[in-house]
Amino acid sequence: MTTPGVRPEPADADWARRAAGLLAADRAAEAATPLVRLSLPGVPAVPVYVKDESARTTGSVKYRFARSLVLAAVVRGAVRRGTRLVEATGGNLAVAEAHVARMLGLPFTAVVPARSAPDRLARIVERGGAVHRVDPPPAVYDHAERLARRVGGHYLDCLSTLGPAIDADLDNGVPGLADEILHDLAARGRPAPAWIVTGVGTGATSRAIGRYLRRYGHATRLAVVDAENSAYFPGWVTGTRDYGTGMPSRIEGIGRPRMEPAFDPDVVDLVIPVPDASGVAAMRVLARVLGVPAGPSTGACLWGACHLAHRMIRAGESGAVVLVAADGPGPYRRTFYDDDWLAGKGWDLAAATRRLERFVTTGDWGV
Ligand SMILES: *Cc1c(COP(=O)(O)O)cnc(C)c1O
Repeated sequence: MTTPGVRPEPADADWARRAAGLLAADRAAEAATPLVRLSLPGVPAVPVYVKDESARTTGSVKYRFARSLVLAAVVRGAVRRGTRLVEATGGNLAVAEAHVARMLGLPFTAVVPARSAPDRLARIVERGGAVHRVDPPPAVYDHAERLARRVGGHYLDCLSTLGPAIDADLDNGVPGLADEILHDLAARGRPAPAWIVTGVGTGATSRAIGRYLRRYGHATRLAVVDAENSAYFPGWVTGTRDYGTGMPSRIEGIGRPRMEPAFDPDVVDLVIPVPDASGVAAMRVLARVLGVPAGPSTGACLWGACHLAHRMIRAGESGAVVLVAADGPGPYRRTFYDDDWLAGKGWDLAAATRRLERFVTTGDWGV
């Protein structure tokens, strides 16, 4: 029997309500990640902080985005009880999505390049996810879409859906990373920073931070660091949205052969191209000298932050610089933290290491 004028609820409505409730509770229970002030004796005038997102659930800045992507798909009715979630990456976002899928009792498959490192894929499998290896790497997208269609699953398609999911969170007043950074500083009696520095890969982190800062009228500026071979720096400088390099980045998490759709160049005040060797050297100085072990994209952020701190000192500007540590050292123990692996890459880290160590102790950036 149905009540006139009231549409009968679909059978899945109960499940969707419970799923949305679980994700909302997860968000409400989320603790702030640490904000760590770096000890830079040579640079007393510009405090530099690391926002350590490796402390977030699943160990990276991607966790909030994964939760938002899945929630948006549930609310749209694209994901129901038992729907297999499919993603076309084996990186931090897939690890986070595997965690969210398991929380909701949903099966998850990451379609990944065949040559992905086994210990990286283990992070997905540990969280109950399945892994499909395909070759060549650019085939992951088509394969994921077809797999989802074949099994009646849902292709999360992060590169296209991150932007809308972030915008919906902003519209709904869902607190994000920029909000958290400003709160961390306010709790210490500090004003908003002069700069926030993050890496750019999918474009999600910089979009979320930059749009938040503009929407609420903060004077804080946003810089993103880019890797070699990436489209972001040349595309941003020339104002060319469809700039393509066709070349993969060597720094995991940042640099893409094209500008991804989630990237919003209009909310980015500066794109800093960081030589790969400089970013890797900085990652090691950050861990060894400054006591904050993190991944190589964070090393690139430290390099960018030092560049900005130097510019501020020279211009007589005051204020803090906050850099985002997107992930920790764990996934890179056998690669960027391994001397033998590094030696095989042919990066000369010596000059960059010296320059950074000199900056830390004397404030001299050497330009
Ligand atoms: C996601 C991520 C970033 C930030 O890039 P996005 O533009 O948000 O994709 C930087 N480093 C790592 C390791 C990441 O996983």
